[in-house]
Amino acid sequence: MANTISILGSTGSIGRQTLDVAEQMGLRLAALTAHSSVERMEAQCRRFQPELAVMTDEDAAKDLSVRLADTGTKVLGGFAALTEAATHPAADTVVTAVVGMVGLKPTLAAIREKKRIALANKETLVCAGELVMDAADAAGAEIVPVDSEHSAIFQCIQGCADRREIKRLILTCSGGPFYGMTYEEAGKMTRADALRHPNWSMGPKITVDCATLMNKGLEVIEAMRLYRLPLSQVDVMIHRQSIVHSLVEYRDGAVLAQLGTPDMHLPIRYAMTYPKRGENPAPPLDLLHCPPLTFAKPDRESFPCLRLAEEAAGAGGTACAVLNGANEEAVKLFLAEKIGFQDIPRLVAKARMEIPVVQSPSLEEILEADRAARACVLR
Ligand code: NAD
Ligand code: MG
Repeated sequence: MANTISILGSTGSIGRQTLDVAEQMGLRLAALTAHSSVERMEAQCRRFQPELAVMTDEDAAKDLSVRLADTGTKVLGGFAALTEAATHPAADTVVTAVVGMVGLKPTLAAIREKKRIALANKETLVCAGELVMDAADAAGAEIVPVDSEHSAIFQCIQGCADRREIKRLILTCSGGPFYGMTYEEAGKMTRADALRHPNWSMGPKITVDCATLMNKGLEVIEAMRLYRLPLSQVDVMIHRQSIVHSLVEYRDGAVLAQLGTPDMHLPIRYAMTYPKRGENPAPPLDLLHCPPLTFAKPDRESFPCLRLAEEAAGAGGTACAVLNGANEEAVKLFLAEKIGFQDIPRLVAKARMEIPVVQSPSLEEILEADRAARACVLR
């Protein structure tokens, strides 16, 4: 059970919802971090009085330290300071809510300090899942997923002492805003179209990933790493209503699922209270007024990112770091309206084709694969 937490990425969608939960639960804040949103960070610091505030953008850090001069919050700037926040001695739990692979080093540092990791930052597990999970085992640090699908699975395997009893995991997928479109139709969709998600309100990068289905591909890899299962035991099903958050099928045929309204406060709260459960002020799920729950196969032809992610998962080694690095850069280009929607899978496929896979990689080899993938997309 969390008592004092640090939030990496507190000004983002997950970060702000974590602060709601912290306020409701009366948790203390050790450190908050953000990239450049100074105004929002100032307001958060005045309200939550963390011991440390980090802005990874140096100019933003200077600005924030002037604004917070009358408070007790210490301000640091730069990427190395993320690790200071992640290892702050007052925190028992670190919520990793930054977007992208930049979360990797601070997450590893927090694990070495045996903090509980409430993990939202899936890119970290996609790039270096084996290293992260091995480090957590070695340090005895708990990793509790915040991603709604993985939290659902985590909840459905409580009480399962032997992972061999699991036949497969079924990750549900909303299908995103372009569900039902052909490859060509989706290719005409713009940044504004992609940012209109049917069920969830999230940061721009993950919202685009939901439209391409890369998000589900990243989640397949995240699930393989978290639960140490092969690709053959992780399936995806389209479930438009986002009520069933994921399912676990056991050897004896029993299928357990976790249901809830599409609201990230619940998985965030569970990552704080685990192994217990606490009161939640949000309105409960009302099954009598839910739309009918439907399930369908994903379309890997119109949305090649899911297939590309599964192929990278199958290839292992640095393939997933290449996939992720290429995707991060391609999504940035799409958000800047420099490339089209189907250029995202095209550029990811190009990086995967051009960059050789290194098996059993070191951290440095993973970082190198990430750099090579980004350079390939920008070439
Ligand atoms: P967001 O864009 O809303 O927020 C990102 C946060 O990270 C902000 O605080 C921002 O200041 C910070 N940040 C951005 N770039 C940074 C950089 N280069 N260095 C340091 N900090 C940086 O993103 P989000 O939607 O909250 O998602 C955060 C993570 O959680 C992602 O990995 C995402 O996949 C995962 N996630 C999000 C949701 C959701 O509902 N939003 C659900 C599941 C998983
Ligand atoms: Mg998810």
